[in-house]
Amino acid sequence: MVSESSIIFDRVDFSSILNRIRTATTVGIQIPDGLKYYTSHISDFFRNAGFNVIVSGKPTYGACDIDLDLLSEVDYLLHFAHTKMVEMDRVIYIPYKVDYTIDTELLEKNIDERKISVIGTASYAWKFEEIKRDFEDAGFVVELKKGNGVEYPGQVLGCNYTCLRGLESDAVIFIGDGDFHPIGAALITGKKVYAYSPLSREFKTVNTSDFLKKRYLAISKAMNSEKFGIVVSSKIGQKRLELAFKLQKLAFERGKKAEIIFMDEITPSMLDNFRFETYVNTACPRLTFDDFNRFSGRMISPEEFEIVVGIRDIDDYGFNV
Ligand code: SF4
Repeated sequence: MVSESSIIFDRVDFSSILNRIRTATTVGIQIPDGLKYYTSHISDFFRNAGFNVIVSGKPTYGACDIDLDLLSEVDYLLHFAHTKMVEMDRVIYIPYKVDYTIDTELLEKNIDERKISVIGTASYAWKFEEIKRDFEDAGFVVELKKGNGVEYPGQVLGCNYTCLRGLESDAVIFIGDGDFHPIGAALITGKKVYAYSPLSREFKTVNTSDFLKKRYLAISKAMNSEKFGIVVSSKIGQKRLELAFKLQKLAFERGKKAEIIFMDEITPSMLDNFRFETYVNTACPRLTFDDFNRFSGRMISPEEFEIVVGIRDIDDYGFNV
């Protein structure tokens, strides 16, 4: 591979991919927005190896989001930067692996508990067997479990924290970037969660109170709503129509109006045209929690809707994992 793309894909076994696609004429390349800059380096590589290349212009949120239109035009779709979520014959997943080390001295000094569970997103979790040994050498007892539908032990997705089911540790440490996953882990486990970024060396104890304040506000607004839009994504790994019908039934039973809206790209401007008072998002949870302000605080999760219609207690606030 050329040098620039090597920065992020130098742990990819490109020769085994070439071997897998050797009978292909045309390959598709799908890559998330944040890495699209590298697309032409990657497509040059496959073109030089003798393939026609078509690049997906769609945003790509996760492995839940396979470009099926492009797949129908190519022999193989190379889906970069995510691990497999949906098994599909002609889709090859090529994860993005960040190489890193941890500062065990800093972690040993700042983590009070000694029995910990290690979690992180795929780009960090690929190295967790080695990281586990580092923690153990520093005196920790480490719980490292593989969840359902993920590639690596300790791997979490914004919609999948199953590696934390039956947690026995006293605390959780999230290794990676951003607040979303550690907040999710804290709400699901009720345990103390630490977040550590190996790249910035930033370490913190996760605080869920600001997040919860915003969510309680959204729930209380939704309680005054009469008309709900129940949003379903057509993306292959996000589609939850059965859940949408269940939620619609709950609304109808309470005399509320509720329409199921089926769409690919879920954007504020597209929802604005419907003018519902509250939207219940059955698709990617990050739309509800991370993009809260973009949707003017009018989007809630299925679990929050259950609170709104009175079948879940507010104290039982949680994510569905
Ligand atoms: S639904 Fe959202 S959190 Fe789950 S894999 Fe897709 S992008 Fe990630």
